[in-house]
Amino acid sequence: MKILIKNTNLISMSEKREKYEKNIDILIEDSKIVKISKQINENVDKVIDARNKVVMPGLINTHSHIAMSIFRETVDGYTTQEWLEKKIWPMEDKLNKEDIYYASLLSCIEMIKTGTTTMNDMYFMTDSIIDAAIETGIRLQTTRTLMGYDENEKSRLIELEELIKKYSKNKLISFNVGIHGLYTSNLSYVKMCLEFAKENNLPVHMHFCENQKEREDIIKDYGVKNPAEIIKREFSNTHNILAHCVKLDKEDIEIIKQTNTYVSHCPISNLKLGCGIAKIKEMLDEGICISLGTDGQGSGSNLDLFETMKYTALLQKGINENPKLLDSYEILKMATINGAKALKLSDKIGSIEEGKTADLIIIDVNDVLTRPVNNIFAQIIYNVKGYNVETTIIDGKIVMENRKIVNVKQEDIINKCEKIIDRIKI
Ligand SMILES: [Zn+2]
Repeated sequence: MKILIKNTNLISMSEKREKYEKNIDILIEDSKIVKISKQINENVDKVIDARNKVVMPGLINTHSHIAMSIFRETVDGYTTQEWLEKKIWPMEDKLNKEDIYYASLLSCIEMIKTGTTTMNDMYFMTDSIIDAAIETGIRLQTTRTLMGYDENEKSRLIELEELIKKYSKNKLISFNVGIHGLYTSNLSYVKMCLEFAKENNLPVHMHFCENQKEREDIIKDYGVKNPAEIIKREFSNTHNILAHCVKLDKEDIEIIKQTNTYVSHCPISNLKLGCGIAKIKEMLDEGICISLGTDGQGSGSNLDLFETMKYTALLQKGINENPKLLDSYEILKMATINGAKALKLSDKIGSIEEGKTADLIIIDVNDVLTRPVNNIFAQIIYNVKGYNVETTIIDGKIVMENRKIVNVKQEDIINKCEKIIDRIKI
C-alpha cells in the first residue's frame, strides 16, 4: 500500500531537517516513510491532501495502565491509599480477561483519537491488552506487572517470558520488564527481574518515588539515605524507564544521572493524587531524558498527551518562576523522540525521516483556537487539543481518518464498558 500525503506543513522532530517546513509531500510505502520532499509525483493507492494542516510524529505515552479506562473519575475525595483500598483493588478483583480487553479497546480508541501512536503499559492479564492493541492497530510496549517478596516467586516472570515468545513475530508489540515498584517487592525479587532484563536485553519499567510515603518506605526498607542509591547500585546495567520520580531531591537527581535512566513524567496524575510536582527543570539541567506519560485514567483522567504537554510546560514555568523555561519545541521532543528513546524504539519511531516507520498524525489547525498561527510549536502545546487530530497513521496503516476509527466500532465498545462498570461498581 502506498500513501502520499500532499502539501502539508511538517514538524518532523528530526535533527537532520528544519524544525518546520511548508508545502511538503510525504510518501509512505507499506510500513515505511520512503520519501519526504516538495512535489512528489508517484502512482499511489491513496492521496491525502493535507493543505493547511500539520503533520508530526505520533505521540508516545511512556507510562499508562490502559485497562483502567473504566475507572475514570473514581478518585475524587480520596487519598491515593484510600482510593486503591476502597475502590480500585475491590473492583479489579472482579475483572476478567474479557473486561480487560474491552476496557483496553476503549483506551486504544482514545489514544488514536488524540494522536498517540505508541504506549508503554503495565498491568495484568496482559494478553487481553495486547489483543486490544492488535485489534485497533496501535503500537504497544508492555509487560506482565512483576511484584514479589521471594526470588522463588517465578510465576509472573514465567508469564512474561511466555508472552514474549508468543508475540515475538508481531512488530507492533514489544516488551519490557515491568517491576511495579521497590515498595511492592523485596531486593532479591528485584534482582531476579533485573537479571532477566539483562539476559533478554529488555528495558526495565518501574514506578519510582511517586509520593512521599513511597520515598520514606524505600529509605526504611532498603536502609539507604537516598532512594536513587538503589538505582545506582542495582539498575546500573539496565536501560531504565522510571515513572513519576516526583519525590527526588537534588542528590537523587545527581545519582540518577549516572545511570541509564529515562524519566516518564506524569504531571496530571501526580497533581490529581496530590503527590507534588517533579523537579523536571533540575533533571533537564543534569541532562536526564524526560518523556511524558498519562498514568491510567483512574488517576490521570484521560490519555490526551496534548494536555500533558501543556501541564508540563506551565507547571515548570510556574514553580520555577521563570517564563523562559521549557520552550515549546523541547516539550514536543518529550512527547515524541524522547519517548522513542525511553522505549528503545528511536531507530524506528519518534521522528519523521526517510527510512523510519510511518507512525504519524495529521492535525487540523483550522480552528478558531488555533488561528492565526504566530508560533506553530507553542500553538500545538497550548491550543491544540487531542481532538484536533484528524488522521492517525501507525506502521503505514490509517487507523483513524477524518476522526473516524477504522478497525473497531467505537459505540459497541463504549456500551460494553458501561455494562462492565455496572457489574463491578463499588
Ligand atoms: Zn502508574
